[in-house]
Amino acid sequence: MRRAVLVLPDQLTDQVGPVAEALAGDSNKAPQIIMVEARDAWALPRHIQALVSQVAAGREFASSLRGRGLTVIQVTSDSLESGLQQLAKTYTIKQCTVMEPASPEDLTRLRAAVAAAGIELNVVPNALWLTSRTAWDEFREGRRELRMEFWYRRVRADRGWLMESTPKGAKPVGGEWNLDHDNRQRLPKGAKVPAVPNFPRSKEVLAAIKDVTPYAVRAFGDAEAFDWPTTRVEALEALEHFCADRLAEFGPYEDAMSTDHQHLFHSLLSSSMNLGLLTPEEVCERALKEWKKRPKAIPLQSIEGFIRQIIGWREFMHHAYMDYWETWRTANGLQHTAALPQFFWTGETKMACVSRVVNKLKRTGHAHHIERLMVLGNFALLLGVNPQQVDAWFLETFIDALPWVVTPNVVAMSQFADLGTITSKPYIAGGAYVSRMGDDCGNCFYDPKITVGDRACPLSTLYWNFIDRHAKALGKNPRMGTQIRAWAGREASVKKAIRARGSEVHRLAQSGEL
Ligand code: FAD
Repeated sequence: MRRAVLVLPDQLTDQVGPVAEALAGDSNKAPQIIMVEARDAWALPRHIQALVSQVAAGREFASSLRGRGLTVIQVTSDSLESGLQQLAKTYTIKQCTVMEPASPEDLTRLRAAVAAAGIELNVVPNALWLTSRTAWDEFREGRRELRMEFWYRRVRADRGWLMESTPKGAKPVGGEWNLDHDNRQRLPKGAKVPAVPNFPRSKEVLAAIKDVTPYAVRAFGDAEAFDWPTTRVEALEALEHFCADRLAEFGPYEDAMSTDHQHLFHSLLSSSMNLGLLTPEEVCERALKEWKKRPKAIPLQSIEGFIRQIIGWREFMHHAYMDYWETWRTANGLQHTAALPQFFWTGETKMACVSRVVNKLKRTGHAHHIERLMVLGNFALLLGVNPQQVDAWFLETFIDALPWVVTPNVVAMSQFADLGTITSKPYIAGGAYVSRMGDDCGNCFYDPKITVGDRACPLSTLYWNFIDRHAKALGKNPRMGTQIRAWAGREASVKKAIRARGSEVHRLAQSGEL
């Protein structure tokens, strides 16, 4: 019986895992590669470009493996279940190896589907992750709080990345683990920002658009504007461009926002990593190599900040999802019940920041971290939207969205719905923050400096409303004390006016007039 390797749609790697082993071994003994294109996945509410990139990248991956001598059987079927049955019946697949899916719920579904098809499943660790579950369990052992920073330090020390030897042992290069305090600069007027590479729609992308569109009835976004890597070659090109042109400024302007420069100095590599086209390890190693080559041009704060996003946040969020995904399905510690306003889909609001980011999402499927956290997530949190609705919306509207990365970032980090499993306080800010970090407020109907009246920035009003509403729940949080005391010290008449404007903002948000 010939062995088979099942490749899942977000495991398109020939660098690590069973496919890499098949390519490296004796071609006569190589396993068959099996893949299922499931049409029910095309009907999921997702950004149209996310659906298209997954389909096109899967097909291009299959054809590249065929070109390198492997036998690839790719079936298109109504669902994963029916696809596996087809593989079992038509191609007599009886046994297959798969890398562990990124989300536990996918593993449960996969196990049931292969069992129903009469296929024996051999699950091996997912080699796309930089860190193992064993390393995570050791890290968790005896810890009361899960904080990214401590995980990050551990992974960095284990890897020896940005570490230097001293007589007292290995230390972080430059003496500090985390240089985030240097990474909060606003983009100066007239600053030059390099263009990002373009990935014109290939014939596979055009075919994927044609195939997926009839099923993608609930899909958000513009398929015609598709401009993302769908092959390893393109993903490597994106990585090269980032290292050559944008890594140096990544750190200082990581949190900046700009109406002129939609991507600033961000890498735009999340969708490539989330599909498996690039491994996080090679991304980090390539960036480190660039920094070693040009240490004067690339400041430590940039390389440190970039590496932290990947070995810190990305890996941390995945492990946390494996542990908490079931809790986060219903977590709503702040008891938020408001509906997500319609302008999250249309972009039709007088709030310049929210409108700009939603319109950018329709076009590109991408917004950078601060736009996700401090514009969209912040507004939803301050408005008191149900966290699972916010989660569903983020899953629907981004090129790089998959449950393992959306839910920890949205439910736990951005919406603080579990009251702090992985973060120490809610990420909230009034309009002054948006004004400080970008230039949206210059074009806005609202004024970030005021909290009452028709022109008051909704973020500024809702910020104080949030503190007011949750003073009790957050009262014991040492990082919220200053704000809670500031609110408590306000005059009764001021509080009354902010509460009244807050109610008005809620009404306007739901009626579409905000
Ligand atoms: P860069 O700014 O260049 O960062 C480099 C890489 O670091 C990213 O490509 C990404 O792989 C990783 N990274 C950075 N922060 C995180 C994080 N918090 N969690 C996981 N990985 C991180 N990331 C996704 O990949 N998919 C999502 O659907 C997603 N949804 C998010 C929703 C919210 C509310 C928030 C606050 C964050 C979300 N993130 C998500 C994390 C992060 O915002 C994106 O990874 C990043 O903006 C992608 O753009 P980039 O590749 O240019 O990243």
